Amino acid sequence: MIGVYGGTFDPVHYGHLRTALEVQEQLDLEAMLMLPAREPPHRDPPQASPEARRDMLALALQGQDRLVLDGRELERPGPSYMVDTLESLRAEHGDCPLGLVLGEDAFGGLDGWDRWERLTELAHLLVMARPGGGRPAGAPARLLTERGVDDAARLKSRPAGLIYQIEVTSLAISATAIRAQQAAGRSSRYLLPDAVLEYLQANRLYC
Ligand code: ATP
Repeated sequence: MIGVYGGTFDPVHYGHLRTALEVQEQLDLEAMLMLPAREPPHRDPPQASPEARRDMLALALQGQDRLVLDGRELERPGPSYMVDTLESLRAEHGDCPLGLVLGEDAFGGLDGWDRWERLTELAHLLVMARPGGGRPAGAPARLLTERGVDDAARLKSRPAGLIYQIEVTSLAISATAIRAQQAAGRSSRYLLPDAVLEYLQANRLYC
């Protein structure tokens, strides 16, 4: 199975990196693709440019090969719809299972995503608990009832269509908090890799 971890990464932090690594390891994924969105469709535009967000992710991923930077959303003009990304991955990988990784905050808003019902035709959903995330309600909750599985082994038996809630180390780190710290002149050390912190400070991305 190939993991698909999308985000704005504005900036990337240990909440992304540690959870991505744990999901990759627990499910023995062939690779975990980390995909920065050019234009996230369902939120305010990111503060840092697509290039800066990609550079920060590349710095964060240096020296390891389990998490892989995938730039396809940055290269595609217009809003970065995850359904288009999954269509292109599905075309490349045939029947290989794909696992779309989402924090439970993101999963709770899934029914606002473009062509959201197609997502589970293209990939499994791997939903990570996130501090303060809350339980999903409405359509995502119903989807979880219909498609949720407790046995991770089932994910490898078909290319898409199941939802697995995965336990990860709980890290209450958010990019919003890091941007606010930078704007207020406070320290963000130990929340994200030093190389990323040095880059965002040298380029005055969030001051
Ligand atoms: P922002 O604060 O700007 O909204 P963010 O920290 O939530 O950013 P995103 O890039 O928007 O980061 O998140 C990408 C994905 O990573 C989403 O699925 C989100 O739920 C998940 N995620 C981010 N931080 C964590 C965390 N600390 N624990 C678990 N999942 C996380």
